[in-house]
Amino acid sequence: MNHIKMNVQKKIALVAHDNRKKDLLAWVTKNKALLSEHFLYGTGTTGRLISEETNLPVRTFKSGPLGGDQQIGSRIIEGDIDLLVFFWDPLEAQPHDPDVKALLRIAVLYDIPSAMNQATADFLFTSHLVHNEYNRTVIDYGTRLKRKY
Ligand code: PGA
Repeated sequence: MNHIKMNVQKKIALVAHDNRKKDLLAWVTKNKALLSEHFLYGTGTTGRLISEETNLPVRTFKSGPLGGDQQIGSRIIEGDIDLLVFFWDPLEAQPHDPDVKALLRIAVLYDIPSAMNQATADFLFTSHLVHNEYNRTVIDYGTRLKRKY
């Protein structure tokens, strides 16, 4: 097992598909004070809308369909994202569905606390762990696989 330390100030990625953007904006607005204590990242359109609406600083990547989800996935791999709030659309297929799936896989692999709807985001951000250091656990799949052969 490998551990990755999350600092008190978390690096939080915010992403929403078009049909879920209104809900994510409402959730961010409701939690603005808490989120202002952390570093925020977002895919292009989501990040821009959040900073326009709330004045919170958001470091934006490319728009999701242009590779923004992949950029967030790569930041997770580099240890540069701690938490993921991703309101994806459960009712409509996206042109970049493979990227979305890849991001969700990487988030699980790297033990990233991930919220995909409002209730989970509420539960996650009322955890005392949001205000403390935490060691995430990344399973060492490499060692596991080697053991098989
Ligand atoms: P967007 O991307 O914030 O640029 O709309 C989100 C997504 O579709 O994954």
